[in-house]
Amino acid sequence: MPFPAKTPAFRGYPAKALCLNYKGMLIFITDLDGTLLGADYSYDAALPALDALKRLHIPLVLCTSKTCAEVKAFRRQIGNRDPFIVENGGALYIPEGCLPLELNSPIRRGGCTVIELGHAYPELIRSLHQASNESGCAVRGFHQMSVEEISLACGMTPEAARLAKIREYDEPFEILSGDPRRLISAIEKLKKRCTRGGRFYHILGANDKSHCVNLLIHYYQRAIGPVTTIGLGDGPNDAGFLKLVNVPLVMKSSASEEVLAAVPHAQLCPGNGGPASWNAAVLSALAKHLPAGQPAAEMTDSPSNTSTAAVV
Ligand SMILES: [Mg+2]
Repeated sequence: MPFPAKTPAFRGYPAKALCLNYKGMLIFITDLDGTLLGADYSYDAALPALDALKRLHIPLVLCTSKTCAEVKAFRRQIGNRDPFIVENGGALYIPEGCLPLELNSPIRRGGCTVIELGHAYPELIRSLHQASNESGCAVRGFHQMSVEEISLACGMTPEAARLAKIREYDEPFEILSGDPRRLISAIEKLKKRCTRGGRFYHILGANDKSHCVNLLIHYYQRAIGPVTTIGLGDGPNDAGFLKLVNVPLVMKSSASEEVLAAVPHAQLCPGNGGPASWNAAVLSALAKHLPAGQPAAEMTDSPSNTSTAAVV
Protein backbone atom coordinates (compact mmCIF):
# COMPACT_ATOMS: atom_id res chain seq x y z
CA MET A 1 0.00 0.00 0.00
CA PRO A 2 1.57 3.36 -0.98
CA PHE A 3 2.12 5.83 1.86
CA PRO A 4 0.79 9.36 1.72
CA ALA A 5 3.44 12.02 1.14
CA LYS A 6 2.61 13.47 4.54
CA THR A 7 1.51 11.51 7.59
CA PRO A 8 -2.07 12.73 8.19
CA ALA A 9 -1.72 13.36 11.92
CA PHE A 10 1.30 15.62 11.51
CA ARG A 11 0.61 19.25 12.30
CA GLY A 12 4.17 20.43 12.67
CA TYR A 13 6.47 20.92 15.62
CA PRO A 14 5.46 23.94 17.65
CA ALA A 15 7.32 27.15 16.97
CA LYS A 16 8.69 26.95 20.50
CA ALA A 17 10.57 23.75 19.60
CA LEU A 18 11.76 24.98 16.21
CA CYS A 19 13.18 28.28 17.45
CA LEU A 20 15.13 26.99 20.40
CA ASN A 21 18.54 27.20 18.88
CA TYR A 22 20.06 29.19 16.06
CA LYS A 23 21.63 25.98 14.76
CA GLY A 24 18.22 24.32 14.48
CA MET A 25 15.87 22.25 16.55
CA LEU A 26 17.36 20.33 19.45
CA ILE A 27 17.03 16.55 19.46
CA PHE A 28 18.15 14.36 22.35
CA ILE A 29 19.10 10.72 21.61
CA THR A 30 19.67 8.51 24.63
CA ASP A 31 20.64 5.01 25.66
CA LEU A 32 18.56 3.54 28.51
CA ASP A 33 20.41 1.01 30.72
CA GLY A 34 23.12 2.73 32.79
CA THR A 35 22.26 6.07 31.17
CA LEU A 36 18.65 7.19 31.72
CA LEU A 37 17.94 4.12 33.87
CA GLY A 38 19.78 3.12 37.04
CA ALA A 39 21.08 -0.35 37.86
CA ASP A 40 17.65 -1.06 39.42
CA TYR A 41 15.87 0.33 36.29
CA SER A 42 14.69 3.40 38.22
CA TYR A 43 14.35 6.78 36.54
CA ASP A 44 12.71 8.96 39.19
CA ALA A 45 15.81 11.16 39.47
CA ALA A 46 15.48 11.99 35.75
CA LEU A 47 11.89 13.26 36.01
CA PRO A 48 12.74 17.03 36.10
CA ALA A 49 14.69 16.78 32.81
CA LEU A 50 12.08 14.48 31.22
CA ASP A 51 9.46 17.06 32.17
CA ALA A 52 11.48 19.94 30.75
CA LEU A 53 11.96 18.15 27.40
CA LYS A 54 8.24 17.41 27.21
CA ARG A 55 7.22 20.99 27.99
CA LEU A 56 9.67 22.32 25.42
CA HIS A 57 8.52 19.79 22.76
CA ILE A 58 12.09 18.65 22.25
CA PRO A 59 12.24 15.13 20.79
CA LEU A 60 13.74 12.46 23.05
CA VAL A 61 14.75 9.44 20.96
CA LEU A 62 15.26 6.26 23.00
CA CYS A 63 18.11 4.22 21.47
CA THR A 64 18.65 0.96 23.29
CA SER A 65 19.37 -2.77 23.24
CA LYS A 66 15.92 -3.33 24.76
CA THR A 67 13.09 -4.93 22.78
CA CYS A 68 10.25 -3.06 21.13
CA ALA A 69 7.86 -4.42 23.78
CA GLU A 70 10.07 -3.07 26.59
CA VAL A 71 10.56 0.32 24.93
CA LYS A 72 6.82 0.73 24.25
CA ALA A 73 6.04 0.01 27.92
CA PHE A 74 8.65 2.57 29.04
CA ARG A 75 7.43 5.17 26.54
CA ARG A 76 3.92 4.82 27.98
CA GLN A 77 5.31 5.37 31.49
CA ILE A 78 7.08 8.61 30.56
CA GLY A 79 4.56 9.79 27.93
CA ASN A 80 7.13 9.73 25.11
CA ARG A 81 5.82 10.10 21.52
CA ASP A 82 9.05 10.29 19.55
CA PRO A 83 10.82 7.82 17.22
CA PHE A 84 12.76 5.03 18.95
CA ILE A 85 15.47 2.49 18.16
CA VAL A 86 15.36 -1.06 19.54
CA GLU A 87 17.66 -4.06 19.97
CA ASN A 88 20.96 -2.32 19.22
CA GLY A 89 19.75 -0.79 15.96
CA GLY A 90 17.74 -3.82 14.81
CA ALA A 91 14.92 -1.46 13.87
CA LEU A 92 13.92 2.19 13.85
CA TYR A 93 10.28 2.87 14.75
CA ILE A 94 8.71 6.14 13.60
CA PRO A 95 5.24 6.72 15.06
CA GLU A 96 2.60 8.13 12.75
CA GLY A 97 2.41 11.89 13.08
CA CYS A 98 6.07 12.37 14.06
CA LEU A 99 7.59 13.37 10.73
CA PRO A 100 5.94 14.75 7.58
CA LEU A 101 7.84 12.43 5.28
CA GLU A 102 7.25 9.60 2.89
CA LEU A 103 9.23 6.83 4.55
CA ASN A 104 10.64 4.17 2.30
CA SER A 105 9.49 1.13 4.28
CA PRO A 106 6.57 -1.20 3.64
CA ILE A 107 6.37 -2.30 7.28
CA ARG A 108 3.67 -0.74 9.48
CA ARG A 109 3.26 -2.09 12.99
CA GLY A 110 1.30 -0.78 15.97
CA GLY A 111 0.91 2.75 14.63
CA CYS A 112 4.53 3.04 13.50
CA THR A 113 6.48 2.80 10.28
CA VAL A 114 9.28 0.31 10.98
CA ILE A 115 12.64 0.36 9.25
CA GLU A 116 14.33 -2.98 9.87
CA LEU A 117 18.12 -3.24 9.69
CA GLY A 118 18.63 -6.33 11.85
CA HIS A 119 18.82 -10.00 10.92
CA ALA A 120 15.80 -12.20 11.65
CA TYR A 121 15.75 -13.71 15.15
CA PRO A 122 15.48 -17.41 14.09
CA GLU A 123 18.58 -16.94 11.93
CA LEU A 124 20.49 -15.52 14.92
CA ILE A 125 19.51 -18.50 17.08
CA ARG A 126 20.69 -20.94 14.38
CA SER A 127 24.01 -19.07 14.09
CA LEU A 128 24.49 -19.03 17.88
CA HIS A 129 24.08 -22.81 18.11
CA GLN A 130 26.33 -23.43 15.10
CA ALA A 131 29.05 -21.18 16.58
CA SER A 132 28.65 -22.91 19.95
CA ASN A 133 29.19 -26.35 18.34
CA GLU A 134 32.13 -25.19 16.23
CA SER A 135 33.93 -23.44 19.12
CA GLY A 136 33.18 -26.01 21.83
CA CYS A 137 31.64 -23.28 24.02
CA ALA A 138 28.44 -24.08 25.88
CA VAL A 139 25.99 -21.17 25.80
CA ARG A 140 22.53 -20.38 27.12
CA GLY A 141 20.41 -17.79 25.34
CA PHE A 142 17.24 -15.97 26.37
CA HIS A 143 15.26 -18.39 24.17
CA GLN A 144 16.38 -21.23 26.49
CA MET A 145 15.54 -19.34 29.69
CA SER A 146 12.16 -19.04 31.36
CA VAL A 147 10.68 -15.67 32.27
CA GLU A 148 11.50 -16.48 35.92
CA GLU A 149 15.15 -17.23 35.08
CA ILE A 150 15.53 -13.98 33.12
CA SER A 151 13.82 -12.08 35.92
CA LEU A 152 16.30 -13.49 38.46
CA ALA A 153 19.40 -13.08 36.26
CA CYS A 154 18.58 -9.47 35.33
CA GLY A 155 16.97 -8.29 38.57
CA MET A 156 13.77 -7.47 36.66
CA THR A 157 10.15 -7.91 37.60
CA PRO A 158 8.55 -10.95 35.92
CA GLU A 159 6.52 -8.61 33.68
CA ALA A 160 9.67 -6.75 32.56
CA ALA A 161 11.37 -10.11 31.90
CA ARG A 162 8.38 -11.22 29.81
CA LEU A 163 8.77 -8.10 27.64
CA ALA A 164 12.56 -8.61 27.41
CA LYS A 165 11.98 -12.10 26.03
CA ILE A 166 9.94 -10.83 23.04
CA ARG A 167 12.99 -10.55 20.79
CA GLU A 168 13.28 -9.80 17.07
CA TYR A 169 16.86 -8.82 16.11
CA ASP A 170 19.27 -9.64 18.96
CA GLU A 171 19.77 -12.61 21.30
CA PRO A 172 21.42 -12.13 24.70
CA PHE A 173 23.30 -15.17 25.94
CA GLU A 174 25.73 -16.30 28.61
CA ILE A 175 28.78 -18.49 28.09
CA LEU A 176 28.59 -21.50 30.41
CA SER A 177 32.00 -22.98 29.53
CA GLY A 178 34.80 -22.66 26.97
CA ASP A 179 36.93 -19.86 25.56
CA PRO A 180 34.83 -16.76 24.68
CA ARG A 181 37.38 -15.73 22.02
CA ARG A 182 36.81 -18.97 20.08
CA LEU A 183 33.06 -18.44 20.25
CA ILE A 184 33.28 -14.80 19.09
CA SER A 185 35.53 -15.82 16.20
CA ALA A 186 33.04 -18.58 15.18
CA ILE A 187 30.17 -16.05 15.32
CA GLU A 188 32.08 -13.61 13.12
CA LYS A 189 32.83 -16.36 10.58
CA LEU A 190 29.03 -16.72 10.24
CA LYS A 191 28.83 -12.98 9.36
CA LYS A 192 27.21 -12.09 12.68
CA ARG A 193 28.41 -9.70 15.37
CA CYS A 194 28.94 -10.31 19.06
CA THR A 195 28.80 -7.48 21.58
CA ARG A 196 28.94 -7.53 25.35
CA GLY A 197 26.35 -5.63 27.35
CA GLY A 198 26.30 -5.15 31.11
CA ARG A 199 25.05 -8.64 31.94
CA PHE A 200 25.11 -10.72 28.74
CA TYR A 201 26.84 -11.24 25.43
CA HIS A 202 24.63 -10.47 22.41
CA ILE A 203 24.60 -12.00 18.93
CA LEU A 204 23.20 -9.74 16.22
CA GLY A 205 23.49 -8.95 12.52
CA ALA A 206 25.47 -6.16 10.89
CA ASN A 207 23.17 -3.56 12.45
CA ASP A 208 24.35 -0.97 14.96
CA LYS A 209 22.61 1.83 16.86
CA SER A 210 24.57 4.30 14.73
CA HIS A 211 22.95 3.15 11.46
CA CYS A 212 19.47 3.92 12.78
CA VAL A 213 20.60 7.23 14.34
CA ASN A 214 22.21 8.27 11.05
CA LEU A 215 18.99 7.54 9.18
CA LEU A 216 16.82 9.31 11.72
CA ILE A 217 18.97 12.47 11.74
CA HIS A 218 18.71 12.47 7.95
CA TYR A 219 14.90 12.22 8.20
CA TYR A 220 14.71 15.07 10.72
CA GLN A 221 16.92 17.26 8.52
CA ARG A 222 14.75 16.55 5.48
CA ALA A 223 11.55 17.27 7.42
CA ILE A 224 12.62 20.19 9.56
CA GLY A 225 15.95 21.58 8.34
CA PRO A 226 19.00 22.04 10.53
CA VAL A 227 19.03 20.15 13.82
CA THR A 228 21.37 20.09 16.79
CA THR A 229 21.71 16.56 18.16
CA ILE A 230 22.72 15.73 21.73
CA GLY A 231 23.56 12.09 22.50
CA LEU A 232 23.89 10.31 25.84
CA GLY A 233 25.33 6.83 26.38
CA ASP A 234 27.54 4.77 28.66
CA GLY A 235 28.72 1.67 26.78
CA PRO A 236 30.83 0.59 23.80
CA ASN A 237 27.63 -0.04 21.82
CA ASP A 238 26.87 3.70 22.15
CA ALA A 239 30.20 4.91 20.72
CA GLY A 240 29.05 4.68 17.08
CA PHE A 241 26.03 6.93 17.50
CA LEU A 242 27.84 9.29 19.88
CA LYS A 243 30.34 9.96 17.07
CA LEU A 244 27.44 11.12 14.86
CA VAL A 245 25.80 13.65 17.18
CA ASN A 246 26.81 17.29 17.63
CA VAL A 247 27.13 17.02 21.42
CA PRO A 248 28.21 13.56 22.69
CA LEU A 249 27.81 13.06 26.45
CA VAL A 250 29.19 9.97 28.23
CA MET A 251 27.86 8.64 31.52
CA LYS A 252 30.32 7.19 34.02
CA SER A 253 30.43 3.38 33.81
CA SER A 254 32.95 0.53 33.86
CA ALA A 255 33.34 1.14 30.09
CA SER A 256 33.25 4.96 30.01
CA GLU A 257 37.04 5.24 29.45
CA GLU A 258 36.70 2.97 26.41
CA VAL A 259 33.82 5.09 25.07
CA LEU A 260 35.77 8.31 25.63
CA ALA A 261 38.76 6.84 23.77
CA ALA A 262 36.48 5.98 20.82
CA VAL A 263 34.77 9.40 20.87
CA PRO A 264 37.57 11.80 21.88
CA HIS A 265 35.44 14.96 21.62
CA ALA A 266 32.80 13.56 24.01
CA GLN A 267 32.37 14.99 27.48
CA LEU A 268 32.23 12.82 30.60
CA CYS A 269 29.17 13.79 32.69
CA PRO A 270 29.61 14.39 36.42
CA GLY A 271 28.29 11.75 38.83
CA ASN A 272 28.18 7.97 38.66
CA GLY A 273 25.86 7.52 35.66
CA GLY A 274 22.18 6.62 35.77
CA PRO A 275 19.16 8.89 36.15
CA ALA A 276 20.62 11.55 38.48
CA SER A 277 23.60 12.12 36.16
CA TRP A 278 21.31 12.02 33.12
CA ASN A 279 19.01 14.61 34.69
CA ALA A 280 21.89 16.99 35.42
CA ALA A 281 23.44 16.47 31.97
CA VAL A 282 20.17 17.15 30.10
CA LEU A 283 19.29 20.24 32.16
CA SER A 284 22.81 21.55 31.70
CA ALA A 285 22.67 20.95 27.91
CA LEU A 286 19.30 22.72 27.76
CA ALA A 287 20.69 25.68 29.72
CA LYS A 288 23.55 25.88 27.21
CA HIS A 289 21.42 25.61 24.08
CA LEU A 290 18.21 27.44 25.02
CA PRO A 291 18.00 31.15 24.18
CA ALA A 292 18.81 33.39 27.13
CA GLY A 293 15.87 34.00 29.47
CA GLN A 294 14.19 30.61 28.89
CA PRO A 295 15.46 28.37 31.70
CA ALA A 296 14.28 24.80 31.11
CA ALA A 297 12.83 24.40 34.57
CA GLU A 298 10.56 27.44 34.17
CA MET A 299 9.23 26.90 30.66
CA THR A 300 5.46 26.52 30.61
CA ASP A 301 3.26 24.84 28.06
CA SER A 302 0.32 26.26 26.17
CA PRO A 303 -2.62 24.22 24.82
CA SER A 304 -1.83 25.19 21.20
CA ASN A 305 1.54 23.50 21.48
CA THR A 306 0.23 20.10 22.48
CA SER A 307 1.73 17.33 20.33
CA THR A 308 -0.72 15.46 18.11
CA ALA A 309 1.17 12.16 17.85
CA ALA A 310 -0.27 9.28 19.84
CA VAL A 311 1.75 7.32 22.39
CA VAL A 312 2.28 3.90 20.79
MG1 LIG B 1 23.92 1.34 28.46
